[in-house]
Order: sequence, then C-alpha cells, then structure tokens
Amino acid sequence: MDKKIILKAQNITKKFSGLVAVNKMNVEIYDGERHAIIGPNGSGKTTFINVITGFYTPEEGQVIFDGQDITLDKSYDRTKKGISRTFQNIRLFDDMSIEENIALGMHVNSDYNLLETILHVGRYKKQEKEIFDYVHKVSEDLKIKDILKQNVSELPYGKRRIVEIARGLVAKPKIILLDEPAAGMNNKEVLELADIIRYISDSKITVILIEHNMDFVKDISNTVTVMESGAKIAEGDFDTVSSNPQVIEAYLGKGVKRNAVN
Ligand code: ADP
Ligand code: MG
Repeated sequence: MDKKIILKAQNITKKFSGLVAVNKMNVEIYDGERHAIIGPNGSGKTTFINVITGFYTPEEGQVIFDGQDITLDKSYDRTKKGISRTFQNIRLFDDMSIEENIALGMHVNSDYNLLETILHVGRYKKQEKEIFDYVHKVSEDLKIKDILKQNVSELPYGKRRIVEIARGLVAKPKIILLDEPAAGMNNKEVLELADIIRYISDSKITVILIEHNMDFVKDISNTVTVMESGAKIAEGDFDTVSSNPQVIEAYLGKGVKRNAVN
C-alpha cells in the first residue's frame, strides 16, 4: 500500500450545545486504504464524518486533505476537491429515476448547475451524452445498469445504498466516506457491497466506512479506528482492535454482545 497520507483530521472537537460529540479526535488516512470507523451508537462517528465532509465546522482542530487545510471549505467545494460521501439516512430523490439520481453526483465536475440538471435544460443538454455515458459505466461496474430507468421509490433498501454509492462515485472522488453502508442489507447484499468496495479500492479511491457489521469490517478493512464518547480509543488492524480490552468494554458497556467485536 502507498503510504501517502491523503486525509488527516487533527484534534477535532465538535460540540452540540453542551454536548461534546467529538472530542479531540485525530485520524490519519492513507491513500488507497479501506479504513473503518467503528464504535457504539452515539460515539460520534457520524458527527466526525460530518466535520470531514463539511456539514459541520468544528470548534477546534483541522481537516487536511491532500496536503491542503480544508477545515473551513463548504461541502460542495470538498466534493469538487475529491471528497464524496453517502449518508446514514439515505438521501435520494424518490420520484426521480435511478439514472437521474446518479447523474446528480456529476454536477460538481461540470459547468452546469444542479437546477439545470433537474430541469434538463441549458448547458446540461449539451453535456448529457457525456454525463450519461459515465453514469452508465459506473452503473455497469456496480451491477445496477439494468434498473437505471426505475424510480428510486421502487427499490429495496439495500439497492438504494448502492445507488447512493454510484452517485458519490460519478463525482470522480479521491476518497469516499460511507456511513453504515451495510445497514438494512441482507447477507447476499452485504457480500455484493464488499465486492463493490473492493472495486472502488481497485479504482484507486480511498474508502472510509462507518460500520456496525463486524464480519463485514473484518472482511473489508485494512485499518480500524474505534471511537467511544467522541474520542479514539483504539486503532490498528481488525484482530488487534477487536481483542483490545477497552474496545470490548466499550461495546459491552453499551449492551452490545461480546461477539459483536469478535
Ligand atoms: P454515531 O454516529 O457514532 O452513532 P453521532 O455522531 O450521530 O454518533 O452522535 C454523537 C453524539 O452527538 C450523540 O450523543 C448524539 O445524540 C449527538 N448529536 C449528533 N448530532 C446532533 C445534532 N445535530 N444536534 C445535537 N446533538 C447531536
Ligand atoms: Mg451514525
């Protein structure tokens, strides 16, 4: 693996009123890595991702991406610089086709705006072929090309997550952050997701994923960071962190069974 650091979060603190959701968090993500962030519910994982992707500004700390301080950049600008994401609560337009939903991810790389994309007017028309060729390529790679004309509302939950990943990928990111991508998926879908994440990795895109499914984390990640109460309590490969007494205690303390981390 290439040992260049692509993303560095330094001393990140994010508070909500009095509550410290993320507390002096430090993480270094290496280029090409599949890096999992795990931890009990409420440990600050989503908030941390939201700081990295620009949905929240931290009270303290810096986010460095590709050597550049992006702490104050807007989300949209971070996407342009190469940071894509999916959401824990899927955010797709239910009444639009899958194809259109995925195409929305490309507007960051084009000189048309989101409204034009939705309305199918203006410069968008001229770039339409180029856009949809790329949407079709990514959809083929993610094995959803045959359902592109369907509405999102017709899709089972697991497939919606794949559509969201496709939308993130058409922005041609350097890094993609997936917030609980396996949530709500059956075993077959989880195996397909693992293949997709390997494909993303093979395409030289770094992957950060928050995940609760420990078999999946073990299968897919090179590095695991464990959060509890907003802070990092362990980091390393899966076997190292899952045998760490503090990690086991963090999970047991929240009522999660021991086999959740083993
Ligand atoms: P995780 O993703 O690890 O489950 P979150 O980052 O969602 O954890 O939440 C961390 C803590 O911050 C929790 O106590 C949660 O209730 C709180 N929190 C998260 N988002 C908000 C918000 N927008 N406003 C207030 N509190 C929040
Ligand atoms: Mg979360």
